[in-house]
Amino acid sequence: MELRFSHKLVFLVAFFMIAGIGFTVWYAVTQETRLVGEIGIHEASRANQMAFEALYTSMRYGGGRNENRAIIKRLNDVKNIEEVRVIHGAPLVKQFGAEEDELPVDDLDRSALAGIPVEAIEKIDGRRVARFVMPFIVKEECLKCHKARIGEVNGAISVKISLEEYDSAIAGAIKNIIISGAFILAVSLALSIVFLFRVSIRPISELQKAARIIGGGDLDYRIDLRDGFEINRLVDEFNTMAERLKQRTNELNVLNKKLEELSITDGLTGVYNHRYFYARLEEELLRASRHCKPFAVIMADIDNFKSYNDTYGHRNGDRVLRDVASTIKATLRVTDLMARYGGEEFSVILPETDKKGAIIIAEKIRKNIEDRDFPNEATQPGGNLTVSVGVATYPVDAKTGDDVVSQADLALYRAKDMGRNRIESA
Ligand code: GH3
Ligand code: MG
Ligand code: MG
Repeated sequence: MELRFSHKLVFLVAFFMIAGIGFTVWYAVTQETRLVGEIGIHEASRANQMAFEALYTSMRYGGGRNENRAIIKRLNDVKNIEEVRVIHGAPLVKQFGAEEDELPVDDLDRSALAGIPVEAIEKIDGRRVARFVMPFIVKEECLKCHKARIGEVNGAISVKISLEEYDSAIAGAIKNIIISGAFILAVSLALSIVFLFRVSIRPISELQKAARIIGGGDLDYRIDLRDGFEINRLVDEFNTMAERLKQRTNELNVLNKKLEELSITDGLTGVYNHRYFYARLEEELLRASRHCKPFAVIMADIDNFKSYNDTYGHRNGDRVLRDVASTIKATLRVTDLMARYGGEEFSVILPETDKKGAIIIAEKIRKNIEDRDFPNEATQPGGNLTVSVGVATYPVDAKTGDDVVSQADLALYRAKDMGRNRIESA
C-alpha cells in the first residue's frame, strides 16, 4: 500500500521523537547505573574501613578470635551490608589456622591477599552488590600478638554492600521518565500533527485539489489560505499562475475563434469557403431527412468574367467578385448559408425551402446583380455584369448533398447555354 505523504510525515516525526526519548532514557539509565555503582563502591570501601577499625580496636584491647567473629557477625546483620568476611592470609593461617569461611573464595580475595585492594559490582540472585576487598598489612604494633613480618599481608576484609535500594530508586525514576516521556511524546506529536497539517499538509492538499479542479477546466478556482506560513507563498504563486493561465486561455480562445473563422472563410469575399459549404450541406441533409423537410442549393456564376478580368485586370476583377458576393449575401435570409464555391462561382444553401421558394430567391439574386452598377460593366457583353443561376432541391431533384449540388450545377450550365443572365432549375 502506498502511504500518503501526510502519513509518512507523521510517521517520520513520531519515529524521531520516539528515538529521541528512547535515547534520553537509555542515556539517563546508563549514567545513573554507573553513578550508583560508584557510590556503592565508595560505601563498600568505607564499610570495609569501619570493619577493619572495629577489629583492630578489639584486638588492641586484647580481643581474640571470638570477639572478632562476634564483630563480623554483627556487621553482617546491618541493613544493606550484604556480607562482611575476613580472609586469612598465610601468616594468620600459619599461626591460628583458618575456618572454612576464612579461606579465600575467588580471584578478588586472592588479589587482596597478594596486597592489591580490589573493587567490583557483582550480582546475587539478580540484585546488584558493590564489593570492596582490602588487604591488611602487618605493622609493628601487630607483632605483639601476630607472628609475621612487617609489610606482609596478614589477611583481607571483603565487604559487599547491597545496591537494591538505589536500583529500585532508579527503576522508579525510569518509570517516571518513561511515563512523562510518553506524555510529552503524545502532546508533542499531537502539536506536531496540527502544525504539520497547517504548515504543509493542508496547503499541499489544497494545491492538489486546485490543480485537479483547474486541470479539469475551472480556471476561476483559487486557493484561499491566509495563515502566513511560508508555504503559502507557494499558494500565492499558484494563484498567480492560475490567473495567468486563465488570461492566456482566454487569449487563446479568442485566437482560436479567429483561426476557426479564418479556416472556414474565403479570404477575398469574406463569405464561407468551399470546405465549410460541404460540411454544412451534410448537416442540412441530415436535418432535412430527419424532419422530412426540403432544402435547396443555388449555384451562381458570373457571366463572361474572363473578359472582364482580361480587360480591367485581376485587381478590378477581385473588387467585382467582392461586390457580387455582398449583393448575393444581402439578398439572403440569415438562416441561409452562402459560400464561394470556387473562382467566380458562389453556392447557397436554403434550409427548409422548396423549389418554388428557391426559384424566387434565385431570381432575386439574378435581378439584384443585374440591377447593381459595377465599375466598367458597360464593356461586358450586353453592357451589363450579370450572373447565371442554377437551382436544385432536396429531396425532389436528388437524395444526397453531392447530387443536389450536381443537379444545381447542371441547371447552371443550362442557364449558360440558354444565353446567360437567367435562372434554371433541375
Ligand atoms: P462563363 O460566362 O461561361 O462563366 O464565362 P467566364 O469567362 O466567366 O468563365 P471562365 O470559366 O471561362 O472564366 C472564369 C474566369 O474567372 C477566369 C478567371 O480569370 C476568373 N476568376 C476566377 N477566380 C478569380 C479570382 O479570384 N479573381 C479574379 N479577378 N478573377 C477570377
Ligand atoms: Mg466559371
Ligand atoms: Mg463565369
